[in-house]
Amino acid sequence: MRDLRADFPGLVTGEGAAWHYLDTAATSQKPQKVIDAMARAMGEDYATVHRGVYARSADMTRRFEQARSRVASFISAKNDSEIVFVRGATEGINLVAQSWGGMNIAAGDRIMLSQLEHHSNIVPWQMLAERVGAQIDICPLTDDGRIDLDWLEANLTEQHKLVALAHVSNVLGSVLGAKRAAKAAHSIGAKILLDGCQSAPRMRLDMAELDCDFFVFSGHKLYGPTGIGVLWAREELLEAMPPWQGGGAMIERVTFEKTTYGPAPQRFEAGTPMITEVIALHAAIDYTLAQAGEDGMASLYAHENALVRETREALGRFNSIRLLGPDSSAGIVSFTMEGVHPHDLGTILDEENVAIRAGHHCAQPLMDHYGIPATARASFGLYSTQDDIAALVRGIERTQKIFG
Ligand code: PMP
Repeated sequence: MRDLRADFPGLVTGEGAAWHYLDTAATSQKPQKVIDAMARAMGEDYATVHRGVYARSADMTRRFEQARSRVASFISAKNDSEIVFVRGATEGINLVAQSWGGMNIAAGDRIMLSQLEHHSNIVPWQMLAERVGAQIDICPLTDDGRIDLDWLEANLTEQHKLVALAHVSNVLGSVLGAKRAAKAAHSIGAKILLDGCQSAPRMRLDMAELDCDFFVFSGHKLYGPTGIGVLWAREELLEAMPPWQGGGAMIERVTFEKTTYGPAPQRFEAGTPMITEVIALHAAIDYTLAQAGEDGMASLYAHENALVRETREALGRFNSIRLLGPDSSAGIVSFTMEGVHPHDLGTILDEENVAIRAGHHCAQPLMDHYGIPATARASFGLYSTQDDIAALVRGIERTQKIFG
């Protein structure tokens, strides 16, 4: 892959030195093209959508809906109307829990999650379960940190109405056998939601092939801005779901006696939407696919997977380091270092212009599983290079000397 660092103004320090940004799983840096697209949308092109009769608003509306089509083709959705713009993956999951969950999950029903879920794919289901009197079950992990599908297949029952799993773990990088999980869920009549936060920036996505029912992701991890995310749901599910927030833009007709609601996806997009963020998300998808080239997203996966393997090999040479998760994963390496708290490691690496993440990564149940409070995590993006790994290794060597 060509070196893309020059496209990303965020990849230099204030002094102009290279910044080894290894926290893309938290949020990605933005290419200048996305920054420019957003600035234009906020500047000379700015107007509201869906309401204005003047030309600029009509133009913005057209571009807003073009972005919806772009997202639909990016994930090979059947129809543009299956795409709901939300603030992020967290909001998408809350929408499904409140709207679909409120209608389809009742007392005595069960929801299946896994041990490695991000808090945003745990807490909305706990809130729903508490409200309606449902139960939550947790699918355990294999020794190398994957969701154990043998266990899942053996333990799903007809009481389970929903299976909600991370497509890629934000801590371990492990990739779910999504088709197998979907088959297991559907075999007992449950629906399946995939949390695609970490798969959307680095994997080819095809909703029909994945055979899931709900899919969510956030724009800011996909080289786009914060404040924009996507919920995809099967058309027939979305059509049957009640609104979750009321307000402008989601109605058909309002009177004080009775209000009727508009069709999906507008029914789920109350209020003035994230106009500039949607336009910038379109630019981010275009940029990402342009870099991916002919092989599409598969080449991005291969690029990051090669960096993962190289990092694991390099870190594996340190006796003090314990690597978590599978050897081959999607752009993410988590580890602990004996005698060094991940926060201390993160602080020392920062002095070397290396930015890693240290903490529980919003996955406290996973930390409990490993019996640790935190990990250090290096995560890659399409702009990451072997230089970043070399800088990480140098920083770890220095840390070892300090704590020696
Ligand atoms: N799920 C996963 C797997 C994630 O990595 C994240 C972000 N760290 C989220 C959900 C939540 O995404 P957001 O904060 O953008 O809503």
